[in-house]
Amino acid sequence: MTVGSYRRRLDASKLVVTRSKVLSEAHNPTDLKFGKHFTGMSPQYLDFLLFLSGPNLSITANATDIDHMLLIKWNLNSGWCDPEIVPYQPIALDPSCGSLNYAISCFEGMKAYLSPQNAPLLFRPLDNLRRMNSSAERIALPTFDVNELLKCIASLVELDKRFLNVKRGTKRGSLYLRPNLIGTSPGLGVGPPTSALLYVIASPVGEYFSSASTAGISLLASSNLGATRSWYGGAGNRKIAANYAPTIMPQLQAERLGCQQVLWVMERDCRITEAGTTNLFVVLRGEDERSVLITPPVDGMILPGIIRDSVLSLARERLEGRGWEVVERIITMAELRDAAKDERLIEMFCTGTAAVVVPVKEIVWGECVVSCRGEENSGMGEIAGLMKSWIEKRQYGQERHEWSVETVSLGGVN
Ligand SMILES: *Cc1c(COP(=O)(O)O)cnc(C)c1O
Repeated sequence: MTVGSYRRRLDASKLVVTRSKVLSEAHNPTDLKFGKHFTGMSPQYLDFLLFLSGPNLSITANATDIDHMLLIKWNLNSGWCDPEIVPYQPIALDPSCGSLNYAISCFEGMKAYLSPQNAPLLFRPLDNLRRMNSSAERIALPTFDVNELLKCIASLVELDKRFLNVKRGTKRGSLYLRPNLIGTSPGLGVGPPTSALLYVIASPVGEYFSSASTAGISLLASSNLGATRSWYGGAGNRKIAANYAPTIMPQLQAERLGCQQVLWVMERDCRITEAGTTNLFVVLRGEDERSVLITPPVDGMILPGIIRDSVLSLARERLEGRGWEVVERIITMAELRDAAKDERLIEMFCTGTAAVVVPVKEIVWGECVVSCRGEENSGMGEIAGLMKSWIEKRQYGQERHEWSVETVSLGGVN
């Protein structure tokens, strides 16, 4: 079925902004916890949130954080409605809708940063929005014009940009943006939704800095738990909600066994794919003494991360010339164990938007513990550290690069 031309396309020039009457105070970024800060809202909604949060009171204690959200409705007859920016607020859903019953729901994770010239920057935002379309397509949700959505998101960031303007010492703040697209049409039949809601919320975050990100984390191979995250023919390569709920129990088991994250391995040969919700890189010294940077291939099993792609691209630009080999290939636990034994496993790290780069200290696999940092044992490896600083220089606009887009260049707030 082709989309009829009478269905309206997403049009950012139609954006309507209703400003929040109560503006909240920007936080010291060192006080921020990832994903816990959202709203500048009415006392009634605070009561509601208190109930929703249960014992997780930190969400309410900090619930005066961000002021606005972006909402765009869609239905099969009329297409995309005019985008709206409104004060952060609850959304009403029919209890029978597909997002609640069948996880017809996908999302993105992207960030805005402040440049030295005090201009908000988005990092590779079109890559996120294209990936969101690929997720939407997989679960029968409508797709959208990525350039138009980007303009709307730029307006949201412009409106709430004072949350970027906080700095304490060396800690910089940034604004995590969470676009969601969900099926909203009522009806219990498993089928394509006839209406949907695209919304974007924002959450101020501090610079990711914890003992784990400096000392390195321990991973538990998912084969030890009999768990898996993706499979051939599945949808593990899309950021769809259905991929995440089933990972929570394995994650809790890993923590109970003293590890910080699950290392998702696959097949009889325990090939590595991802760790938690991050991509993976391995640095080996090859048999010919050449240094090799390896990451699992985009073969449908992994989420094609934007930080992953950024690391690959920087490695090809700056390491290959120095004699490095940069490869996307299958790498198994047995290969990692043997490399560690021969002292050829130099470092391993995880990548993702939230933390950029986190070093891996060790992997618990079956009965063995594979140490990933050789003689140094823990800490940020040379390549992990270089990648983190190279990427952050572009994210914060210290190095001007096409990956960073100024929100003002995308059109302001109406
Ligand atoms: C989002 C995500 C990543 C990281 O992607 P980035 O674009 O680099 O943030 C990796 N793995 C999974 C499963 C993810 O959901």
